[in-house]
Amino acid sequence: MFSSINPADGQQIASYEPHGEAEVGRVLDEAVAAQAKWRAEPMEQRCAALTRVGAALREGRDKFAHLISTEMGKPLAEARAEIEKSAWCCNFYAENAQRFLADETVEASAADSRIVYDPLGVVLAIMPWNYPYWQFFRFFAPAIAAGNGVVLKHASNVSGCALAIEQLVHGAGVPSALSRSLLIESKRVAGLIADRRIAAVTLTGSTAVGQLVAAEAGRHIKKQVLELGGTDPFIVLADADIARAAEFAARSRFQNAGQSCIAAKRFIVEHSVADEFVERLTGHARALKLGDPLEDGTQMGPIAREDLRDELHAQVERSISEGAKLVLGGGPLAGPGAFYQPTILDHVTTDMAACREEIFGPVAPVIRVANVDDAIALANDTDYGLAAALWTSDIERANGLARRIEAGAVFINGMSASDVRLPFGGIKKSGYGRELGVYGIREFTNIKTVCVG
Ligand code: NAP
Repeated sequence: MFSSINPADGQQIASYEPHGEAEVGRVLDEAVAAQAKWRAEPMEQRCAALTRVGAALREGRDKFAHLISTEMGKPLAEARAEIEKSAWCCNFYAENAQRFLADETVEASAADSRIVYDPLGVVLAIMPWNYPYWQFFRFFAPAIAAGNGVVLKHASNVSGCALAIEQLVHGAGVPSALSRSLLIESKRVAGLIADRRIAAVTLTGSTAVGQLVAAEAGRHIKKQVLELGGTDPFIVLADADIARAAEFAARSRFQNAGQSCIAAKRFIVEHSVADEFVERLTGHARALKLGDPLEDGTQMGPIAREDLRDELHAQVERSISEGAKLVLGGGPLAGPGAFYQPTILDHVTTDMAACREEIFGPVAPVIRVANVDDAIALANDTDYGLAAALWTSDIERANGLARRIEAGAVFINGMSASDVRLPFGGIKKSGYGRELGVYGIREFTNIKTVCVG
């Protein structure tokens, strides 16, 4: 049985029966049959369905946002923005898929040589709870436009979102067998990956689960896209606009209560400006309004689950015992719910938990460095490589430094954020493959060469 627990008060909202094996088998059979028909539909019709999904998302925005907020705890305003972005993604691919997947003619030895993009089949999507709509739709929109079918295994704490997504997609006229949500325990995922009816796999989640999924998909030689964890550096050089950098740092670290893969997770600051940066960041963190995600004006809700809050607190305690200086927060809020205080740790070093491990919560570790070379070396001194931010007033220098940073994206004088028009993804243990933009839609296609002699 899956339980959805409101993390703001610890109360159960609903419980859900998992799908049985027979039901899973039926879903897969039907998805394969539906995908065979869907791939033969003209692209215009597939895109028209996506446009309707986008409209349905906007129409139901408040209802979906309420569900997100109650199941995983983000403030309503952030949940509404998530729905809006999901709708944008559907519209983006509805408008651009035809162009992205158009045949390409190449001069080669045959009289006519072309590259065409065919769908792969039914793709299994394993998704996390932190952006329960956005993470799914940024995969779904290009996959469906390309002619694939979709089976979603969502995180167990957002089963309500999983079922609501299924209903909305069907209501918008996507064939009901083509996109399904399966409520199954994670131990059953390996069996799905192995199943011949599943052509490929995408996972957005932790690196630990990425290793398991990659091993299983590798065993069966199935294409995978892995969007995994990160410890993104936010580098502040001495010539940066410190006031603006601190404002963006706070936004990047504390939005969604710090539970974002591309949140800034290590603040690497040149010595000469570190005191000012810490002071300003602390001011922003102190001003955050914590509380009921459903209340207007709340800027930060609880952590999504109590066990995750406890793990987070253990990381903070470990870092302090290793020598980090606690500047603000440092513990759970008293009372019901899985709330955690916005926390700032200063004088963090590379051997401490706050630097070594991914901190998935509202905790900002500040690491002071002597110069720009140390900053870049430290930024790269991690197993992860998702995104990075770099603050300086010297853009020419920044453009050079951006090429030295080991990450899937670098944001100069900004914060890491995904944009449907730009590729998104990581290197190293943050995963491989790309979502969004033109690259995202080609991941789950067979890039086929056709030659006419
Ligand atoms: P998680 O524990 O890895 O869970 C992600 C998904 O994997 C859930 O659906 C989960 O299902 C499933 N899962 C868990 N164990 C599994 C197993 N043994 N085999 C197959 N599937 C399994 O991650 P999370 O705690 O929900 O999310 C946080 C992590 O995701 C962070 O590391 C974050 O950085 C990362 N993330 C990355 C991106 C990106 O784009 N790179 C975006 C968002 C989040 P159950 O809920 O049933 O366990």
